[in-house]
Amino acid sequence: MTSLAKIKPELCISCGLCAVYAPDIFDYDEEGILLFKEEPEAHQQFIPQEQEAALRKAAGKCPVRAILMEKLAD
Ligand code: SF4
Repeated sequence: MTSLAKIKPELCISCGLCAVYAPDIFDYDEEGILLFKEEPEAHQQFIPQEQEAALRKAAGKCPVRAILMEKLAD
């Protein structure tokens, strides 16, 4: 099953946790605000099944809930 990750960079406090848990998905701009590694301008991205666990951890650890995860039916 694919997931959709949605991010709210306006909430991000640059704590750095999300890229610890999901380094293949998330990266930061020059101010430490999160963005998608592959699509820095995007606010949502489809996440393949093999990266879902990492996404779930990152979303769960984010102190300001700037990362949301939606399950999508195949
Ligand atoms: S875990 Fe949340 S607050 Fe911390 S860098 Fe990632 S998005 Fe920003």
